[in-house]
Amino acid sequence: MFDYLIVGAGFAGSVMAERLASSGKKILIIDKRNHIGGNTYDYYDESGILVHKYGPHIFHTHSRDVYDYLSLFTDWRSYEHKVLAAVDGQLVPLPINLNTINTLYGLQLSTDQAEAFLKERAEKISPVKTSEDVVMGRVGKELYEKFFKGYTKKQWDLDPSQLDASVTARVPVRTNKDDRYFTDTYQVMPLHGYTNLFTKMLSHPNINIMLNTDYRDVITFVPHKYIIYTGPIDSYFDYCYGQLPYRSIEFRFETYDKDIFQPTGTVNYPNGQAYTRITEFKYLTGQQHKKTSVVYEFPKAEGDPYYPIPTAENAALYKKYQLLAETAPKTYFTGRLGTYKYYNMDQVIAQSLTLFKSIMKDQPIEMQA
Ligand code: FAD
Ligand code: UDP
Repeated sequence: MFDYLIVGAGFAGSVMAERLASSGKKILIIDKRNHIGGNTYDYYDESGILVHKYGPHIFHTHSRDVYDYLSLFTDWRSYEHKVLAAVDGQLVPLPINLNTINTLYGLQLSTDQAEAFLKERAEKISPVKTSEDVVMGRVGKELYEKFFKGYTKKQWDLDPSQLDASVTARVPVRTNKDDRYFTDTYQVMPLHGYTNLFTKMLSHPNINIMLNTDYRDVITFVPHKYIIYTGPIDSYFDYCYGQLPYRSIEFRFETYDKDIFQPTGTVNYPNGQAYTRITEFKYLTGQQHKKTSVVYEFPKAEGDPYYPIPTAENAALYKKYQLLAETAPKTYFTGRLGTYKYYNMDQVIAQSLTLFKSIMKDQPIEMQA
């Protein structure tokens, strides 16, 4: 008899597995894929370069709790991610900052002048409701069209005016020269990769792992007291209210016989190309190798569900599933797919740590014999 049957061995499910196992619970964690780690899974490709199978994963968080928790399972390397965007035939820094404006327009503005420059162009929009409103309200139409309109259309197949404000609000605008993509307190990568981290996290005697298995195929045979579900919530309820839309991506990996392919970890292509961005893994991992591997991302509708799509309509549909989830007996939902939230890794980890604490309030730690 397992105390918990956990569906999904990504961060959401694995954090639950590790925490509950460390509290004396017997766990079975199941994933339909042939590996642990969920979308953060990494592996060494044919040339021996560490790559991320489901696209580039850069760890960043403001949360000391999340950082300390993960530090139980990995050492770190410092890494501050930098992104350039291909705009008007040049590679310019993203988020838009002082250097972006100066390079793009051939100017030499100071921070104060750049603030005035943007203020003059920014549109007065109130209330800010959509992803278009956010950017137009910060930088105005021209920069919005150069950096955001085309990229967003490619990424989501939606106009920014159809997407929740939170989507483009992820990318700030700065008038100083800070060209880091993130400003979180902790910006680090697991020293030996994500799969190594997960291997340590799940190597507890109370945890049994079952891969290559859809939970539906075994759930009736495996005795268990509770379920923790981190797959797509609409699938759990057999799409009874209809499908929740997700955005997928096709990843094209290339290895080049050269040390370096591009000047930063990621180059974004807001306009023109069918792909949104190219990421070169050696920047992220710090690996030394005479060749280099990159991934191109081609967004698409069909395929693995990677991105919940933040629109008002989808939020309303999710709400209906959430109400069902709240009444599902002895079943808990967590994670990016399980709660239909456009969450980063650290948010998913924090969400599962919070769920664990609330479960523990009801079920005290079992004493080990
Ligand atoms: P997942 O990792 O998706 O795990 C869910 C697991 O459930 C999967 O392994 C799946 O196989 C399994 N499953 C589903 N249904 C079933 C079933 N029926 N039976 C058995 N198993 C099932 N976050 C960052 O912080 N930084 C980044 O740089 C970053 N980059 C990203 C880039 C891309 C392209 C994508 C798609 C996401 C990125 N993220 C990033 C987000 C990050 O991937 C997620 O926040 C995190 O991995 C979600 O973890 P999870 O456990 O909720 O979901
Ligand atoms: N975005 C954009 N242009 C860019 C980068 C981002 O329009 O060059 C918008 C786009 O809508 C994207 C969102 O901002 O989906 C969030 O970007 P982020 O880099 O955080 O996306 P993720 O890494 O989650 O794919």
